[in-house]
Amino acid sequence: MDTFETPMSADFAELLLRRDAELRRALQALSADDEPAQNQDVSDFKDLALRVNEAAVDEQQADRLEANLAQVAAARQRLGAGRFGTCLDCGGEIDLRRLLALPEVEYCMACQQRHEGQGH
Ligand SMILES: [Zn+2]
Repeated sequence: MDTFETPMSADFAELLLRRDAELRRALQALSADDEPAQNQDVSDFKDLALRVNEAAVDEQQADRLEANLAQVAAARQRLGAGRFGTCLDCGGEIDLRRLLALPEVEYCMACQQRHEGQGH
């Protein structure tokens, strides 16, 4: 029953809100310079290749930002449900410093490391 309750949860609500806005702004900035660069001087292949490359990097970044946004949304839901700060894997408490640095984090340190170890 001793979950993260007031006044902590209020701080995290704000942290997550700020994080959400931050990520959205970054996403917008990415799509802002997404203007189709066609009908320009396509004869310059080097430039074109560079632009295609940039677009690919932007896309990767956008993907990451969107995944991050989803994490923030999920964290806000957990906060609302009183389950914030609990590892999704083992159900243990996530280190507070970890949460303060990255409020949308989903796993405790041990589980995160296990996940990353599996991933690569
Ligand atoms: Zn865990």
